[in-house]
Amino acid sequence: MSELFDAPSPARLRPALAGVPAYVAGRPAKPIPGLITYKVSSNENPYPPLPSVAAAIAEASGQVNRYPDMMNVALKAAIGESCGFAPASVTVGPGSTGVLAQLIGALCDSGDEVVFAWRSFEAYPILVRLAGATPVMVALNDAGEHDLDAMAAAVTDRTKLVILCTPNNPTGPIITDAAARAFLAKVPAEVVVIIDEAYVEFVRDSDAVASFALQRDYPNVVVTRTFSKAYGLAGLRVGYGLAHPTLAEASNKTSIPFSVNLVAQAAAIASLAARDEIDARVDAIVAERQRVVAGLAEQGWRLPATSANFVYFPLGPDESERFDVTCGDAGLVVRRYGGEGVRVTIGEEAANSRLLEITGRLRSALRT
Ligand SMILES: *Cc1c(COP(=O)(O)O)cnc(C)c1O
Repeated sequence: MSELFDAPSPARLRPALAGVPAYVAGRPAKPIPGLITYKVSSNENPYPPLPSVAAAIAEASGQVNRYPDMMNVALKAAIGESCGFAPASVTVGPGSTGVLAQLIGALCDSGDEVVFAWRSFEAYPILVRLAGATPVMVALNDAGEHDLDAMAAAVTDRTKLVILCTPNNPTGPIITDAAARAFLAKVPAEVVVIIDEAYVEFVRDSDAVASFALQRDYPNVVVTRTFSKAYGLAGLRVGYGLAHPTLAEASNKTSIPFSVNLVAQAAAIASLAARDEIDARVDAIVAERQRVVAGLAEQGWRLPATSANFVYFPLGPDESERFDVTCGDAGLVVRRYGGEGVRVTIGEEAANSRLLEITGRLRSALRT
């Protein structure tokens, strides 16, 4: 057996694979004796499923000998109704990462360009490279915001797609409605613009992009959202896109058949029916974010303005590692981006309080 695997494989892998960066996932918390540890590295929801959602999951689990509804009829109807879109404008996938992959698969051939901000969501360069397309990464400004003028200038006749991430992961700032509209006015109508709103439920800024109205005004806009973050279903993998019916259909076509599983469909539908309870939990997470942001400001940190369920510390090469290690030793598993900075999810109240203790100590050390 092992002898067979020791021989080089003669398989002719696509050259594009060589350029695909590895996805760096948030690490699990390592046990520390006498200390409760928290994983605040993947922007997950700290709450377990609602009782009504857990019941829907249990019920659906009794039917997993059957395939799910491949057309996702009930799920698309429920999403369409909650967002005010016709089911023909709704596309679903295994997470909004899945929807993103479907759209890239529908739009991009080898050599096509996809423009997005950097640093932003980890999956963008991976999915673009997997399609054989070329990522065009435009640096965020010093405030951790999209530089939309530079992004508009980066659009060429090879550009098939632009991805805007608001609030931006990992830095946190929103794109304003005015800025998004000014940007779209400059982008050719045949270039698709995805507005990735994975964290939209946590936004409380009234200047933020009103994506549904924008989609209606600009048929090249696709809005993507997810059940992974505010809805707390990250482990089930379900997300959606709202688009012109032609683009929604194209995304359905490039999806892997049955990729949104039966349990995920049921849980997402049950979550939409429990919107009030979900909203209350999101409000509690937002209140915790406000507590953390205020505490950090009081300690003297100057950070990008976050509208999501995380805060970002742009610490640079020396301090990022120290921050990461100090948090880890104190039982908080955070997400470090090499020598750029560290992202910390707003999690359980005790995790957030522990973050403030650690940042207080680190801040004092920075001053001395
Ligand atoms: C988490 C996240 C997603 C989606 O995650 P899924 O679990 O695949 O739905 C999409 N975009 C951004 C920016 C994210 O942070």
